[in-house]
Amino acid sequence: MKAKDHPDYFGEAICPGCKASLDCSHCVSPGDDKLRPKPKDLTVCVYCLTVLEYGHELELRKVSIDKFVKLSAEIQGQLMSTIKTLQRMKKEKNEN
Ligand SMILES: [Zn+2]
Repeated sequence: MKAKDHPDYFGEAICPGCKASLDCSHCVSPGDDKLRPKPKDLTVCVYCLTVLEYGHELELRKVSIDKFVKLSAEIQGQLMSTIKTLQRMKKEKNEN
């Protein structure tokens, strides 16, 4: 299924770090609002690993270092774990 055919697809989101289109970042399972991003939700760009936040129109913005250090330790840990997983996946992909 293409992202645009997904029932919860709401548009294209561009990474401000690398300008990649992250149109598959939005939702994992159909019809589950918990997985659909809301303004202020955080994500990580799968291409450049920039930590991003959804804005009011679900546009993506970079999360500044000042803002990152104010996040809870749990959230920081989840973001760092996501970044490490993506780094490992990129490395494995480059080795094959
Ligand atoms: Zn990016």
